Amino acid sequence: MEVWGNMRGKYIDDALQNGRSLCIGGDGRCDTPGHSAKFGSYSVMDLDNGTMIDIQLVQSNEVKSSCHMEKEGLARSVAYLQGQGINIYKIVTDRHVQIIKWVRENMTDTQHCVDVWHVAKGLQKKMLALSKEKECGILQDWIKSVTNHLYWTAASTPDGNGDLMMDKWTSVGNHIQNIHEGHGTFFPRCEHDDLTRQERRKRWLKPGTKPLEKLITLLNSRQMKKDIPKLSTIQQTSELEGYHSVVNQFAPKMHGFSYNGMMCRLVLAAMHYNENGGRHAAVTKQGNPCYKITYPKFKKGSYTVRQVKTEPTFSKYRYKMFYMHVH
Ligand SMILES: [Zn+2]
Repeated sequence: MEVWGNMRGKYIDDALQNGRSLCIGGDGRCDTPGHSAKFGSYSVMDLDNGTMIDIQLVQSNEVKSSCHMEKEGLARSVAYLQGQGINIYKIVTDRHVQIIKWVRENMTDTQHCVDVWHVAKGLQKKMLALSKEKECGILQDWIKSVTNHLYWTAASTPDGNGDLMMDKWTSVGNHIQNIHEGHGTFFPRCEHDDLTRQERRKRWLKPGTKPLEKLITLLNSRQMKKDIPKLSTIQQTSELEGYHSVVNQFAPKMHGFSYNGMMCRLVLAAMHYNENGGRHAAVTKQGNPCYKITYPKFKKGSYTVRQVKTEPTFSKYRYKMFYMHVH
């Protein structure tokens, strides 16, 4: 805990000295098996460089009910960072109503964005359920495209213009009917080239049919209208998922741990993550960075370049020793 405290303190001192304002991402995790969660942790990352900077562990008996733990964790993290004098220019979280309300009321000078991954996950689930309804099987083919369109809506709008994102998003309602222009004011026509033969072969949705009507209702739902303009365009909390998977190794959910045991495990996971998460980019024998090029289907022939990371190390903090002594 002392090592963690020092790391965290030094990180904050550096940020203060450099006059750096932070974009943070926060996400909660239930740390107890079953539904009667005893603990909930809230983890905060500096999204500009992928460093874990704070962890709060809240016990359910400290708050009104277990669903308040996430909000309480966030509140404590923000209080801690602000108490140290840190300025937070942007915060990216999931879309939970309570969290959105809390940030709106308590962080008036901070821009609040919702993580695309969380929104996409919810949408995917709803589309899947819809595709299982009578006569709606055709929607199955569209789940991936529509979800990819959501990611694209955010990624292609780096300045976060909410109106533009909204028009980009709703254009998909036309696209699925094989209509590629005449969309909204800010995004009048699709940006894709001529569709490949394979994409053309996909069955378009027909006006007046049940699957189309149902899908359009979902695309334009109140929830989507709230989420889309707030989508985080560059910084995403998905890196926090990487951290959570490390937590799952250090503290499997099927085991119950004491408060201190749990806290130590979270801290170990954070230190492990910080050592490996922002891993140095792998280099070739000549010393040039390695890149991997992928051609995702939704990009229709264009490509994504990713830097290849080096393998993780376990050397620095002797995790195994800690692991054996923490109960
Ligand atoms: Zn189109």
